[in-house]
Amino acid sequence: MEILRTVTELRQWSRDSRAKGHLIGLVPTMGALHAGHASLFRAAAASCGAVAVSIFVNPTQFGPNEDYARYPRTFDADCAPAAKEGANVIFAPAVEELYPAGASTFVDVEGLSDRLDGASRPGHFRGVATVVSKLFIAAEPDRAFFGQKDAAQVAVLRRMVGDLRMAVEIVVCPIVREADGLALSSRNMYLSASERARALTLSRAVRQAEALAAAGERRASALISAALQTFAAEPAIRVDYIELVNWATLEPVETAAPGTLFAVAAWVGATRLIDNAILP
Ligand code: AMP
Repeated sequence: MEILRTVTELRQWSRDSRAKGHLIGLVPTMGALHAGHASLFRAAAASCGAVAVSIFVNPTQFGPNEDYARYPRTFDADCAPAAKEGANVIFAPAVEELYPAGASTFVDVEGLSDRLDGASRPGHFRGVATVVSKLFIAAEPDRAFFGQKDAAQVAVLRRMVGDLRMAVEIVVCPIVREADGLALSSRNMYLSASERARALTLSRAVRQAEALAAAGERRASALISAALQTFAAEPAIRVDYIELVNWATLEPVETAAPGTLFAVAAWVGATRLIDNAILP
């Protein structure tokens, strides 16, 4: 499996692959790969003849006091599993390759970018939309694969692709969880054993909302207060948000409908975790 470092190389690989008759799949990641990422690689390989996985810790999506500097970077360990699960090439550019000196062009999906994670992480979705645009322009993919785990990110990117009439299909893959329910995340590495146990509150709250909705509870206020009670049992966790929103607009809803997004974010010690469900 080849490792590509420049936009020019990635674009050439994409065009050569297309000339051979392949559909091009792109899976953007920040590395520190786990089984959630691998599920995206497999989905990409199942529907595209040529799959590029990008590994890039994108500085513009981190706030000044966030974990950019200490975000886990495990490139050497990431390559073999990526290849095994379907990546044909890895695109691992230096920061200056995607952000040349003096770069001043950004993609801002107004409105959506200020909701959910965007409310507590100002500038985060601007960074995400900008880097994903750069990756799309470089890789020219037919399909790009993202996890439902980052559901607000999916909404922002779907809107971006629609607004800019980008010729790429966004494919969303289900959340991969540990056996006990914890959603896999590169940031789970930060958790101590006791934090790891407490972190289960997020998936517990999500499962509870799904169960209540399946049993007919549609009121956002009831679903949210049930989740707040679940979190209240773990005072060491600080809730960032618990929201019921329209998945396309990220606007809060009062009544859940099929496809409504129930999303939570919470601080477990110094680690911010997210989880969600699309309600039945
Ligand atoms: P990241 O490396 O955290 O930026 O994630 C790269 C991609 O993997 C994003 O599209 C995430 O939504 C997706 N992803 C992360 N965790 C999971 C998971 N537990 N299940 C499915 N997809 C995931």
